[in-house]
Amino acid sequence: MLKDQDRIFRNIYGLEDVGLTGARARGVWDGTKALVDLGRETIIENVKASGLRGRGGAGFSTGMKWSFMPKDVGERPHYLVINADESEPGTCKDREIMRNDPHKLIEGALIASFAMQANAAYCYVRGEFFRETEALQRAVDEAYENELIGDNACGTGFKFDFYIHRGMGAYICGEESAMIESLEGKKGQPRMKPPFPANVGAWGCPTTVNNVESIAVVPDILRRGADWFAALGRPNNTGTKLFNISGHVNKPCTVEEEMGIPLKELIEKHAGGVRGGWDNLLAIIPGGASVPLLTKEMSSTVLMDFDSLREVRSGLGTAAVMVMDQSTDVIRAITRLSRFYMHESCGQCTPCREGSGWMWRMMERICAGDATPAEIDLLEEVTKQVEGHTICALGDAAAWPIQGLIRHFRPLMEERGRGAQPVAAE
Ligand code: SF4
Repeated sequence: MLKDQDRIFRNIYGLEDVGLTGARARGVWDGTKALVDLGRETIIENVKASGLRGRGGAGFSTGMKWSFMPKDVGERPHYLVINADESEPGTCKDREIMRNDPHKLIEGALIASFAMQANAAYCYVRGEFFRETEALQRAVDEAYENELIGDNACGTGFKFDFYIHRGMGAYICGEESAMIESLEGKKGQPRMKPPFPANVGAWGCPTTVNNVESIAVVPDILRRGADWFAALGRPNNTGTKLFNISGHVNKPCTVEEEMGIPLKELIEKHAGGVRGGWDNLLAIIPGGASVPLLTKEMSSTVLMDFDSLREVRSGLGTAAVMVMDQSTDVIRAITRLSRFYMHESCGQCTPCREGSGWMWRMMERICAGDATPAEIDLLEEVTKQVEGHTICALGDAAAWPIQGLIRHFRPLMEERGRGAQPVAAE
């Protein structure tokens, strides 16, 4: 369990002053100039050495991603884009940073931008996050007034501007290249890669897109040392992580914990346990709506990190844990997610545009007990034809929950076809 002194987010519940005075009391903006003065190379090397992997879902090394940016600024300016679109169902961690500890994000953005020689950061905030945007804007204004950012950020001589851009509520704008398109004022549709954003990103310029949590932890990594961060968690899965626990638990919450904490311990220590006790558990989606679910048996032993969850053919994703007890009609739950992905498909590529709707309609048939076992086979086959055959990962996100359901609950799906009724869901 994470020790209190190792906690990075000290105001995640908003119990203390959100403003600059409160942030400073918690150590934010403390000696930021000295961190910038470490120099670009040292900052990037430290972030690499810490083992920080992107907190938005993909889990790619943050330091490595930064190192893909051109070393020198040529004719094209560099940009940092912060992904605050947070639209994955079940996920509610970045919003807590923005509304309760926004200065952490701005300080991290300054350091990350300096490391990549970006004089501007664009924070793309999910449109529905109105209060979060207000809190973040207040913090940005305070940072400008106190010359923490601006023409001479923290007295470093580095010019740094922080812009907030509000989205309009499209899930697909959380995909980095769709986010860049949307930022440019175009329809939010993912781009074909290559070229990658580090080469051709926002307005055709070198750009790195990072998640809010990934950026917000950077100042602490530099202040406390890469070794400190790397010592938390497990090898290749280091540091702390914000987990969101929702669904059929006694106390749904967002909590910072060490990477690699056992899922059962996470739920029992922080969320008051499963409603009706652990034996009443049916299944858990461990990392946001797009990852395959886990059975009770798997949930009893799995560790919450990138590699452990991949080993059980699921994923850490955004670390949004959704708990379903025995009262859940799990077929209906996954059908609802299928509908979500169909609705959010941008329609650009055929397997996703047609496949997500087809899969949802088939799930409705299974839910209603109208499908035969052969149709379940057909559905599984179609998920495999969508997976990996699309421009962006939304195709995979539409396929994986269904694959997980078939893998673990196929007998239940077949029984439904023979007339078995779902348990009474609340
Ligand atoms: Fe659009 Fe879906 Fe293709 Fe992604 S996979 S580009 S969301 S149609």
